[in-house]
Amino acid sequence: MSDLVTALKGVLTKGDLLLDGDATGRLAGIWRSDNIRARIIVRPTSTEEVAAVMKLCHDRGQHVVVHGGLTGLVHAADTDPDDVVISTERLNRIEELDTLGRTLTVQAGVPLQSIHDAASAAGLMFPVDLGARGSCQIGGNVSTNAGGLRVIRYGMTRDNVLGLEAVLSDGTIVSSMNRMLKNNSGYDLKQLFIGAEGTLGIVTRLVLRLRTALPARHTALVAFPNFESVLKVLSFLDGALSGNLSAYEVMWPDFFLFQRGKVGGAANQIAGDQPFYGLVESLGADQEREAEAFAGALAEAHEAGLISDALVAKSDAERASIWRIRDEVEHLLSLGQSIFFDVSLAQPSMEDYVAEVRKNLEAALAPVSFFSYGHLGDGNLHFTVCKGMETEQHRETIERVIYEPLAKLAGSVSAEHGIGLEKQPWLNVCRSETEIALMRRLKHALDPKGILNRGKIFGYEGGQVPGL
Ligand SMILES: Cc1cc2nc3c(=O)[nH]c(=O)nc-3n(C[C@H](O)[C@H](O)[C@H](O)COP(=O)(O)OP(=O)(O)OC[C@H]3O[C@@H](n4cnc5c(N)ncnc54)[C@H](O)[C@@H]3O)c2cc1C
Repeated sequence: MSDLVTALKGVLTKGDLLLDGDATGRLAGIWRSDNIRARIIVRPTSTEEVAAVMKLCHDRGQHVVVHGGLTGLVHAADTDPDDVVISTERLNRIEELDTLGRTLTVQAGVPLQSIHDAASAAGLMFPVDLGARGSCQIGGNVSTNAGGLRVIRYGMTRDNVLGLEAVLSDGTIVSSMNRMLKNNSGYDLKQLFIGAEGTLGIVTRLVLRLRTALPARHTALVAFPNFESVLKVLSFLDGALSGNLSAYEVMWPDFFLFQRGKVGGAANQIAGDQPFYGLVESLGADQEREAEAFAGALAEAHEAGLISDALVAKSDAERASIWRIRDEVEHLLSLGQSIFFDVSLAQPSMEDYVAEVRKNLEAALAPVSFFSYGHLGDGNLHFTVCKGMETEQHRETIERVIYEPLAKLAGSVSAEHGIGLEKQPWLNVCRSETEIALMRRLKHALDPKGILNRGKIFGYEGGQVPGL
């Protein structure tokens, strides 16, 4: 190890690495109480430094794990004691804002919030947004293909990245810093690294697609009389708001009432005895006209009996208070150990699926707390399950109850958080053997020694050529 330390110091301009206690003193993740187990954390400042670090590690067969903001929720950035961590915290430069071309060129360690701030200062916006925006980094968002709160309108992270630079396991730099919307000149290589959870290469720089900021934002908290109405209103608002619908979040009463108890505020004005709640938002350019269209659409849905109650935010403070109900999921941690789930399935199957999961969890583990909510407009449900301080003891049972029914529903065990280590045993619920074999082949082609983020997504130890 000391030979590697000396060599690493030689290639980092500021010799920037943390050793022993300085490395292991850091927490392993945002909601974790355990510490990082790696012996070395390197903090490069440029793609070239990352490449030099990877060349040294490749020559020695040294395993490497990349750390962004460590807000990931599926143990994708977990380390072993002999791992080298590449932290992107010093790859934090905003390189260029092109206001006419509407692109932002950044290093991978820039926090998502700083990207929002930079775009906003120029009258532009980067549409990817999530509750962890203050801590997560754009390289982590790209490597997990983060979804978040506006997917229904703007797509996932992969839809908002134009160009990307990555370092392969042997130190080769692949620079695809494309700025164009259209480019069909062969394979779109950047997509290989987006959502790969650091298993195929290290993302170091990005060209992000920005949009013109839309100042007219209208938000409402809505109560629905039944699930059919939840789906009908989604389809109705999509048309009635002329494509301006930008968020459609749904909460079952277990989640809504718990969160309202914690957050309070404007949400107290809405009836508390309804079977479903929603948070809907539109983004547009014309404040007055769209306020009228938004209120008019909700009134029409109310008259048709599709919504039973609604609270339209009258100020930014009221809007923020409504969003806190959905965003501040960390309140659920106050109940003891909690497991967060992130599945996707066709919207019409959701009501029965949630009911089946609830029934089976109660049959197996009562008393157990079960909260359902999610980005319903994107077909994405989140669950939080808590059995006090015993939740982890029952993890296998809980995961089986939630994941197994997804096979017959053609759903996915991960809508947006990724697989990491946590969901690896369940990958075959939603991916065929052929698909997993092809993923292994790609891994082998790009990282034949298996040194990048060892064991994540699927087991691959390097060396063998996996067959199809
Ligand atoms: C409160 C809260 C709300 C959240 N809401 C959402 C949400 O709405 N939608 C959503 O999708 N996720 C959500 N998440 C999960 C998490 O924030 C995202 O997965 C985020 O994109 C992770 O970014 P990060 O910088 O923290 O990455 P990390 O946690 O540091 O890393 C995640 C993975 O990416 C790899 N990685 C990181 N940087 C790089 C890089 N430069 N090159 C290669 N690999 C890299 C890591 O090795 C690891 O495998 C939420 C999390 C919290 C705590």
